[in-house]
Amino acid sequence: MNESTCGWAGCSKGAEAELDARPLCRSHFFEIAAKWVEKHRESLQRTEPTGEHRLAVLKFLSALISQTTNLATRAKFLSPSQRDQFNELSTAALGLYKRVQRDPRVPLNMPILLHRDTSLEESQELTYTVDVSKKGASIATIRSCGVGEKIWIQKPTNPLRSLARVAWVKKTGPAQFLIGLDILDHENFWGANILSPVRIRKPRSRRSLSQMLPKPVGD
Ligand SMILES: [Zn+2]
Repeated sequence: MNESTCGWAGCSKGAEAELDARPLCRSHFFEIAAKWVEKHRESLQRTEPTGEHRLAVLKFLSALISQTTNLATRAKFLSPSQRDQFNELSTAALGLYKRVQRDPRVPLNMPILLHRDTSLEESQELTYTVDVSKKGASIATIRSCGVGEKIWIQKPTNPLRSLARVAWVKKTGPAQFLIGLDILDHENFWGANILSPVRIRKPRSRRSLSQMLPKPVGD
């Protein structure tokens, strides 16, 4: 890689890393990688990647993390502030990677009871799931809550309650929210049949990694 030059138009610096098979100097690598990470973060707020797209995102983030880590460990070539930048980028990419790597979600509309402990009294809401994963769920609710808040969930037909932690909150309308829950004390709350592999469809076509990912801005 030492012999190639940066693939950014007009840049003649030596390539020190590559992104999506494109050799880049450290500045352009950082610039493009930071934009990608931000795009993925925004996209994850809207939708959870599935199937082939999910694998492409994981592959991309994993390559980005290893390239960034390589660059950041070349301490003598980097200024302390550059090293900090690369470390932050690698941490951000790793956070996204872990988030995408979690168990895949399956669309599922199921009635669910939410129990919350408020300072006044316990409140209960009958609502529905939007999708579920082995140890998580997206649930519609009329009351907002904070990330980290603990909520009990219960199937209306079953007395068993399970403790969950709010991982994210999204406002979807006036007094309408979608919350992402991580189930804390139950390995298989939804039942094995709901998440069986039969429900996972085979990808229809094979596309290259770059076709499946959003284009970075300013490239
Ligand atoms: Zn460059």
